[in-house]
Amino acid sequence: MTALDGNAVAGVLEDVFGREMTTADYACVDCGRTGMVAELAVYVGGPGIVGRCRSCDALLLVMTERRGMYCVDATGVI
Ligand SMILES: [Zn+2]
Repeated sequence: MTALDGNAVAGVLEDVFGREMTTADYACVDCGRTGMVAELAVYVGGPGIVGRCRSCDALLLVMTERRGMYCVDATGVI
């Protein structure tokens, strides 16, 4: 599966968080890499959206949608 970047899910992120999120800062809990959400390796081909660290591939963000509601797990992001 080919990784996209965070810009690919900008609309979904804005719907969920209520503001533009691709320029928001993040820090990886595993390797400490910092950057903007737009820099995440994003996968959209599964049942949800997955964001991984570009340096260590740690799972940083998982978003799933069911019946119009999103479940967000961002525990990989400090
Ligand atoms: Zn990392």
